[in-house]
Amino acid sequence: MSQENIIEVWNAVLNILEKQISESTFTTWILPLEPQYFDDNCFVIHTGQAFAVNLLRGNHYNQIASAVKTVLNKELEIKIIFDEELQKKIEKKSKARAAAAQQQEQTAKPKYDSLTQMQSSNLNLKYKFENFVVGSNNKLAYVAAQTVAQKPGEKYNPLYIYGGPGLGKTHIMQAIGHYIIKNTPELKVLFITAEEFVNDVVNALARGDEKTKNMNKFRKKYREVDVLLIDDIQLIAGKTRTEEEVFNTFNTLHGAGKQIVLTSDRTPKEIPSLSDRLISRFEWGLMADIQPPDIETRMAILSNLARDSNIEVPNNIIEFLATVYENNIRELEGAFNRVTAYASINETPLTVENVKKIINYEEKANVFSFDGIVNEVAAYYNVSPKDIKGSGRSAKIAEARQIAIYLCRELTKQSLPAIGNFFDKKHTTILYSYDKVKNELNTNYSLSHSVETIQKLLNK
Ligand code: ADP
Ligand code: MG
Repeated sequence: MSQENIIEVWNAVLNILEKQISESTFTTWILPLEPQYFDDNCFVIHTGQAFAVNLLRGNHYNQIASAVKTVLNKELEIKIIFDEELQKKIEKKSKARAAAAQQQEQTAKPKYDSLTQMQSSNLNLKYKFENFVVGSNNKLAYVAAQTVAQKPGEKYNPLYIYGGPGLGKTHIMQAIGHYIIKNTPELKVLFITAEEFVNDVVNALARGDEKTKNMNKFRKKYREVDVLLIDDIQLIAGKTRTEEEVFNTFNTLHGAGKQIVLTSDRTPKEIPSLSDRLISRFEWGLMADIQPPDIETRMAILSNLARDSNIEVPNNIIEFLATVYENNIRELEGAFNRVTAYASINETPLTVENVKKIINYEEKANVFSFDGIVNEVAAYYNVSPKDIKGSGRSAKIAEARQIAIYLCRELTKQSLPAIGNFFDKKHTTILYSYDKVKNELNTNYSLSHSVETIQKLLNK
């Protein structure tokens, strides 16, 4: 065989050696050898590992020599020579291999994964976009929430969602968090209720000696997130130190382009004693309100719940429940859960009669309804309910309307947006009317007399 075929020769030698030498020795010391040349006297092999020279000469010389003899049919002297260039080449290769392996490990295991983020975010798995029913009542908030979830920190910052109790504020806020964690797990999301935030401030301040350390820890916790979700922000009002921390946290995050989402039961301006600087910041981005759902949305919500439960809920029951609970989805859901729990325990069929008993419907009928109040006020003032709900401005109608609004708020404890929805007025108008009557009750005798009389009639 000629010199040109040295690679082939060497491969044949390797084939023989592989069977005779332990696997680890073979891969570590033999495989990296590079044959150089051979003539009639010797066969020269280079190694990049200095240690290999003595090791192979001492322990495997005969095996190599005999393998070469088998292939070339000649007895040659085997020369194993350390080659510095080859050493460098091997080192370079192994570094590249290590780097590639490390990179592969990183891509396979991202630094942040959704599960870890989920655990530190405080989010509730129940509140996702997928199970949020969109209706005309919450469309604006929904679209804004989606925008924020897709491009946090870019468009509406802060996003301020407000509306009455049980209308889905917490749900939609958490949905933003879930979406971000799922789609951009490298972003850190933190959900917190304003109440917890207040407690955190109080605790950090309370521990005498360690106050500074605790405050630093507190600040780190809130300022190192990419998306901060604070629920029921109205609860910080009047708590000076908390307001200050919210202010500083807000500035830091907003300045760094981090997303802030807030929910509240009212607009920033309507939060009593909230500092002006916070009011203005909360209004910087987008304010989106959620109104009570219309009947179709309520039915859609119930249909979804029915689909997810294993209980067959007839349509007429869904319709009935949807007509009874107009202003609070939490109550609507609560009633639905009671009904299905009952149905799963008892084998009696679900009829409207049964359902009425389950939800104490008779009792609820005694509770004041918006319509009942408006009808009573209208009768007292000798105007039509339509006038009261309309926008006529005569003094009599205006007073009747304000009293109706006041009583709706006082007697039903419904939210301003819910009342606003019923009267087809902005809830700021509702708040104005309510405050006006309330303030005048002590000074305006005729007004207080009318209010008392109507209330007595309603209680009959
Ligand atoms: P809020 O924070 O406004 O008081 P929540 O977000 O806690 O109200 O909602 C109350 C309940 O109603 C939750 O169980 C929530 O999942 C449900 N809910 C509210 N809005 C919707 C909606 N649009 N679609 C489905 N479920 C809703
Ligand atoms: Mg809530």
